[in-house]
Amino acid sequence: MARPRMTADIRLFPCLSDNFGYLVHDPATEATAAVDAPEAGPIVAALEAAGWTLTDILVTHHHHDHTGAIPALKERYGCRVTAPAGEADKIPLADATVRDGDTVRVGALEARVIETPGHTLGQVAYWFADDDAVFVGDTLFSIGAGRVFEGTYPMMWASLLKLRALPDATRIFCGHEYTESNIRFARTIDPDNAALKARADEAARQRAAGKATVPSRMGEEKRANPFLRADAPELAAALGMAGQSATAVFAEIRERKNKF
Ligand code: ZN
Ligand code: FE
Repeated sequence: MARPRMTADIRLFPCLSDNFGYLVHDPATEATAAVDAPEAGPIVAALEAAGWTLTDILVTHHHHDHTGAIPALKERYGCRVTAPAGEADKIPLADATVRDGDTVRVGALEARVIETPGHTLGQVAYWFADDDAVFVGDTLFSIGAGRVFEGTYPMMWASLLKLRALPDATRIFCGHEYTESNIRFARTIDPDNAALKARADEAARQRAAGKATVPSRMGEEKRANPFLRADAPELAAALGMAGQSATAVFAEIRERKNKF
């Protein structure tokens, strides 16, 4: 018999200045994972509000705003910490390491590990295919992408292509609430994009209502996010780079954003 779809109960809430905290709960087994550990207080509060106990932490990358609360959460709950193999040495208290293609279980829920180097060299995403959800850390944002700190532009572009290949219905849970500033930048390089205009209107409504702009869906990001459109001829032309490689166009977009 096919497994039922859409079983995970996912909660998101703000942490630190602009990070997202995430809980992924399996109602069948009561297992609950935090994806990254930015700040203990809001994570504990979200767990207690839901009546859940933390069993797992799934870490996307080693930066402190994603790992700083691991020791406090581990001490409180004795949870299992799963970390990317490529940077587990920089992540406190890792119990298990994962690589591209591995399967991670949270109770009966399953996530596929997708290695997405660039922002950091070992960064991974966790894709819960049955729940149309992917947790991407700081690789992909709504209408944006992470800064390329440790890797190269070709490496980051290749990582974004791996994420772009996920189904259009996939909900993207990213590490930060950066959407509005990403939109302001995106409209400077892709001003005639109707999908981007629609996303700008939606995000403005969400923020006015005090809501998060996350998650978005991969289908709309593919049409509206310039960092996923570096191989679109019209975007290359708008940048004065007609005929140049997607990698070159991606690097130009990222460098313009760095100076924006
Ligand atoms: Zn980061
Ligand atoms: Fe971050």
